[in-house]
Amino acid sequence: MSGRAFLQIPGPTNIPERVLRAMDRPVIDHRGPEFAALTETVRAGLKQVFGTRDGVPMLYPGSGTGAIEASLVNVLSPGERVLVYNYGVFSGGLAAISRRFGFAVDEVPLGYGKTIPTDDLERRLRADSPTNPYRAVLVVHNETSTGVTVDITAVRRAIDAAQHDALLLVDTVSSLASIEFLMDEWRVDVAICGSQKGLMMPPGLGILCASQRAVAINQQGGGSPRFFWDWAPIMRENRVGLFPYTPATLMLFGLREALQMLVDEEGLSSVYARHARLATAVRTAVNAWGLPIVCEDPACYSNTITTVRVPSGFDSNELTKHAREKYSLSLGGGIGELSGVAFRIGHLGALNELEVLATIGGTELAFADLGLDVKPGSGLLACQRAFLAQAGSPTRAEAVAVA
Ligand code: PLP
Repeated sequence: MSGRAFLQIPGPTNIPERVLRAMDRPVIDHRGPEFAALTETVRAGLKQVFGTRDGVPMLYPGSGTGAIEASLVNVLSPGERVLVYNYGVFSGGLAAISRRFGFAVDEVPLGYGKTIPTDDLERRLRADSPTNPYRAVLVVHNETSTGVTVDITAVRRAIDAAQHDALLLVDTVSSLASIEFLMDEWRVDVAICGSQKGLMMPPGLGILCASQRAVAINQQGGGSPRFFWDWAPIMRENRVGLFPYTPATLMLFGLREALQMLVDEEGLSSVYARHARLATAVRTAVNAWGLPIVCEDPACYSNTITTVRVPSGFDSNELTKHAREKYSLSLGGGIGELSGVAFRIGHLGALNELEVLATIGGTELAFADLGLDVKPGSGLLACQRAFLAQAGSPTRAEAVAVA
């Protein structure tokens, strides 16, 4: 098909040309001085994105799942108790992965569309066993299956209110570098991510950031058996810009470029504001379609992903297949319990207003082709109005009123 394809899944996301070009270069010696400087710059940029001064960022050739495993095995030992709320595929996944490592998992089922009830969290922590307390609370910041963003400040407040000293491990795979994350302020012990979403990179890196408290557990011999994931040799080698294994050399060049764009050029607060703006417009369009958003509490609407329920009798998998095949528009399918009944619009990473309009317009075409009772143009108009209203100039405001 001619023209560009639209990749609006909840990640991997579109990669800016500049980032692609930064990786299109000869491999260099990963034990030489140029590489050491590169590592240092990337680690400094990651600290900014994680919102930390003292945290230790670590990078693995891998993906988000690898970073989850790398986090768990460095701070938790078999038999230790962890608390996990299940509000979708990835929060449920944290519980499943933890069970594989032999941690004693208390998994609280919440249902898709929910967020963590922090009063319940506080209550459970207050009532915790004094002799064998929870060692960690595992949280997904942005549940990619449902488009729910958990308020980590509220989670932290609940842990503090219960005067509990459980570690706080947070999966930021679909939020980091798109939704504000303040690791130090929220006293997160390990923040977990991958390269392929907000960081505007291809899949291929597992990334995490460990607090000094988490690092101390590793250094005092805590955790589970590990080799590749072990933080100790990484921290030792990283101090001089090196890695204890062959790093993904070219990806680090790409990541340096992406971090420069996010941190130094656009600036993180503008990046977060852009995501908020684009997400608001997407939700305005979905409301105009008359379709329900899976996230139940508007205060938890995700600025990176909107999961949209389709009317009963309509197969959302048909929609995503049709949009891809006819319009080269890739939307995210419903996953887990939402397969066939919902679809996901990814609005994260390198993205602007016109790309959002194309996504909404293309989705409307697919709706119309498949006979879904949604007025073509309704979402598009709502989305344009949202953008005009956000822009806020008098002429634009007038245009909104006329439209
Ligand atoms: N956690 C969340 C919130 C995710 O969205 C994903 C993937 O989309 C993962 C974990 C797993 O990451 P990966 O697919 O990079 O291994």
